[in-house]
Amino acid sequence: GTLIISLDNVKAYYARGDAYVKAVDGVTLNVYKGEVVGIVGESGSGKSTLSNVMIMNIKKPLTFIDGKVTLNVGADFLELNKMPRQELQKIIWGRETSIVPQSAMNALMPTKKIRDFISDLVKDHFERALNEEEIIERAKQRFTDVGISPNDIYRYPFELSGGMRQRAVIAIATLLNPRLLICDEPTSALDVANQKLVLKTLEQLRRREIVESIVFITHDIATVRQIATRMVVMYAGKIVEVSPVEDIIKEPLHPYSKGLLLSVVTPEPEIKKRGISYIPGTPPDLANPPVGCRFHTRCPYKMPICEEQEPPLKKVDTNREVACFLFNK
Ligand code: SF4
Ligand code: MG
Repeated sequence: GTLIISLDNVKAYYARGDAYVKAVDGVTLNVYKGEVVGIVGESGSGKSTLSNVMIMNIKKPLTFIDGKVTLNVGADFLELNKMPRQELQKIIWGRETSIVPQSAMNALMPTKKIRDFISDLVKDHFERALNEEEIIERAKQRFTDVGISPNDIYRYPFELSGGMRQRAVIAIATLLNPRLLICDEPTSALDVANQKLVLKTLEQLRRREIVESIVFITHDIATVRQIATRMVVMYAGKIVEVSPVEDIIKEPLHPYSKGLLLSVVTPEPEIKKRGISYIPGTPPDLANPPVGCRFHTRCPYKMPICEEQEPPLKKVDTNREVACFLFNK
């Protein structure tokens, strides 16, 4: 397929005192055109950091340490990690890549009518793409596309329900048909009915090629199962498994994925919120991660080598990769 974005051994750490919290620590990942990639893991596994690193939105204390982030912009491949923030703002964010955050309320300005919020965005980001009038017209169209009234752009965010607000944010994020849409837990604040609507909206935007690829970040496997074609499992700042969704649901390979998938069968929202309650122990402190496999402190299959060496992410099947010595023959 056509490569949309590629991360090559990317490391991004938070500076904390004189230590580093290794939130994204050697991540290699390709996203192709037409894909919906679900990134799953417990909170603190580095998923949200990864979403910011993908678009090189690096703000202190987060520090880009090493690696390459390459984005296909049609005529060219740009190495985002070499571009100054100003340039990213001008030609990448909003146009080539866009992020839908978890909290739609925070994404909008509570004190501003949505129309004025969009108009300010035009001035800050999209100026050279379309004039303000065209943006407002397109916003109305996109509001219709995501199933809310075009006249809602004349309302304040608080006048919309939570589900409508999240769809309004999706409409705004996709105004300029970004190639890559990154959604960071976009449904976790919503009830089940609105979750379904948001997932359906995203799927339609992709099917109509308003966006080319979606990266969907969540701690909820059930959601990934509904929307994603491929699943990426993160643990403690690293990718431990990459697999087509149906394969990993049927047969998770990494011991952590196995534990994670058990959370699908639980109906209690409280347990879902907390994530992986079936694996004893807690994720490691990323300022001082365990030597060897980072999961060895919780892994029921631990072997002596696991405490000494780091298992590399390796192909075990045509479309499956896993970082575990059980599969490293
Ligand atoms: Fe468990 Fe070892 Fe595999 Fe890590 S490498 S997941 S400790 S078996
Ligand atoms: Mg997060």
